[in-house]
Amino acid sequence: MMTNASAPRIRRGALAPLAATIALGLGLLAGMPPAQANAEFRSCLSQLRAEAGRNNVPGASFDRILSGVEPDMSLLGFLDRQPEFRTPIWDYIAGLVDEERVADGRAAMRQYPNALAQAEERFGVDRHVIVAIWGVESNYGRNMGRRPLVQSLSTLSCFGRRQSFFRGELMATLQIIERGDISKEDLVGSWAGAFGQTQFIPTTFQRIAIDFDGDGRRDIVNSTVDALGSTANYLARSNWRRGEPWGYEVRLPRGLAESRIGRRTKRSLSEWSQMGVRRVDGSALTGPGQAAIIAPAGTNGPAWIVFRNFDAIFSYNHAESYALAIALLSDALAGRPGIQTAWPTDDPPLSRAERREVQVQLIRRGYDIGEPDGIIGPKTREAIQDMQRRLGMEASGRAGKRLLDALRRG
Ligand code: CA
Repeated sequence: MMTNASAPRIRRGALAPLAATIALGLGLLAGMPPAQANAEFRSCLSQLRAEAGRNNVPGASFDRILSGVEPDMSLLGFLDRQPEFRTPIWDYIAGLVDEERVADGRAAMRQYPNALAQAEERFGVDRHVIVAIWGVESNYGRNMGRRPLVQSLSTLSCFGRRQSFFRGELMATLQIIERGDISKEDLVGSWAGAFGQTQFIPTTFQRIAIDFDGDGRRDIVNSTVDALGSTANYLARSNWRRGEPWGYEVRLPRGLAESRIGRRTKRSLSEWSQMGVRRVDGSALTGPGQAAIIAPAGTNGPAWIVFRNFDAIFSYNHAESYALAIALLSDALAGRPGIQTAWPTDDPPLSRAERREVQVQLIRRGYDIGEPDGIIGPKTREAIQDMQRRLGMEASGRAGKRLLDALRRG
């Protein structure tokens, strides 16, 4: 899964309603002596074994799948982790919609013309949106996560404060293995159990995944065709409407109150027109039915009118920034123009190549940040903060144009 951007994203809305809750001494749990953790885990497993039986996973299968699995107590830290760094929307979008992801996406579309045509035909979903989701979720199948699902989900089923949720995910995982859709070894993913090219969590897989290549197994890890079909199915189930656009960029009238905009505030196009909203090129609004206007950086930044299909994309990950990134990437894949209005910042975001250049510059100055991959993770961010202090800049940890210019100069 891509993304160090800290837009609110835990997959498929599964954990989205986690408001700030009380941490149940997770620090203590994570620091539990291994022998004690193991003992508690074993006794928990015997309960899970019974629960698996009630979910059509026989004890013998449970024993085979869980044999040798030890709890990974380090996962508990993720349950309550708050993002310490908020990515500005323009960095978030620039990180997901860049020339490399567009080029890779076009190449991927050329590789799967039949599957995409069939997905469009059967589900009515625009192929560019399907491919955009694939590109953002797993960088077109390149980054699917590395944590073994059985270990992660059994640990989180036995420790921490979301055990009943994770038990449901573990049961679905066992069923997936038991049915022979995907092997235990191939089921690796995020700490919370999102896996495969679509980054579905197991219960979502059970509801949504389809065998689109017809080999008898639903396999969103090894079969790109299954992954593309499953993504199309997800959008179709989220009420995607065939042939309708997601939206497009607009120009807002001066002084339009922020309170009038937002994804949930729907009006007719004639109402928006009367308020003075126009397409970004100044022409009149067109489109299907009721629409909302979003302006994630405020009314002085770019704004978009969004239709029902934007909500379908939103349902994939319950974050407006995420839905906008998918929508804009789909536009770029289709060859439509990018954002016309400037973001309201004097320190613009960097392309992936430029972010790599920042990393190369940092490595050259002795910072140990691993391979330059263009992804600004915690190590790079720390190095940037240190560098910013040395350069007399605000230590924001953000890789923007100003930092790159300073590094190039010095
Ligand atoms: Ca298949």
